[in-house]
Amino acid sequence: MHNITELIYRLAAEHTLSAEEYRILLTEISHAETELLARLARETKEAIYGNAVFIRGLIEIGNICKNDCYYCGIRKSNKNCDRYRLSAEDILACCAEGYDLGFRTFVMQGGEDGSFSDAFLVPLIETVKKNWPDCAVTLSLGERSPESYRALRHAGADRYLLRHETATKSHYEQLHPANLLWQNRMDCLHSLRDCGYQVGAGFMVGSPFQTTEMLADELKFIEAFKPDMCGIGPFIPHKDTPFRDYPAGSAEMTCLLLSCIRLIHPPILLPATTALGTLSENGREKGILAGANVVMPNLSPASVRKKYMLYDNKLSDGAESAQAKASLEARLAAIGCTAVVARGDIQK
Ligand code: SAH
Repeated sequence: MHNITELIYRLAAEHTLSAEEYRILLTEISHAETELLARLARETKEAIYGNAVFIRGLIEIGNICKNDCYYCGIRKSNKNCDRYRLSAEDILACCAEGYDLGFRTFVMQGGEDGSFSDAFLVPLIETVKKNWPDCAVTLSLGERSPESYRALRHAGADRYLLRHETATKSHYEQLHPANLLWQNRMDCLHSLRDCGYQVGAGFMVGSPFQTTEMLADELKFIEAFKPDMCGIGPFIPHKDTPFRDYPAGSAEMTCLLLSCIRLIHPPILLPATTALGTLSENGREKGILAGANVVMPNLSPASVRKKYMLYDNKLSDGAESAQAKASLEARLAAIGCTAVVARGDIQK
């Protein structure tokens, strides 16, 4: 038997363990030790951010995608996906509504759609930054060229979310068709950092073929890359994908990893993801109690919400109305947290 408590305190103090120690921690941790880990993660977060939870208005700008990721419901081969693309006017209307509700970060996420060209995005980003100069713009539009990342950054985009999906190259190849390269994904993350974005990496928990050794390597990757943000959520199967019959990841393992990541990189911005909320009753609250400090309610127009179906039964409750926003705030208040009206940049 290993001394898990000792590993937990050492992680909190030194922000690092060996890959083998992470593997042991993730495999052998007891319920009581998980509570200890979560408490230290919460205290670490509170020392930097207090009880603030940052809210991001998520605008799913389109589900047309040229890629065929085996796990994803909006993959190009899914003929049952009802495709849409928002216009610049639609997107600006979401921002206007979101601003009035108190959002100061807008996240534009979508499939890799050639129509989201620099010619489309640059004036859109410039308009958002001109209309709402106190807001941050976050993009999550997949792999692009270094030139494009630079142009979008120059237009005013502040942050970019690009989950690496897995830190293990051979695993990446099991999750994606051969034209999608792990090395390119990694190169994109470095290129984004070079452009001066706050960069978000991330991975799915319990994706097909993932082992505990791989999860330990994810934690070593976070140690080394130190992303400003890290999106992690359970894999959830989608009925119209090749991975339809694989089991979902676990909410408990996701929360455990959230706690570890908080201790590895204390100032990191860590969302309690929609996938966690979908898989588990009060999943997002559990994520926050495990060390997360960001939630990303949906601001997309109601007419398209159900179409951005990355996995089965994806929650599409948003904060599009004052009432929905108030109910989110009440849920956060119930766990001692406050949704703040602020950009919520990483504290360096
Ligand atoms: N095209 C963008 C946005 C992808 S959707 C990009 O490439 O970054 C955002 C995230 O949803 C993905 O990075 C992936 O980690 C997650 N996702 C996709 N399918 C999923 C599934 N079946 N279960 C859980 N998460 C999924």
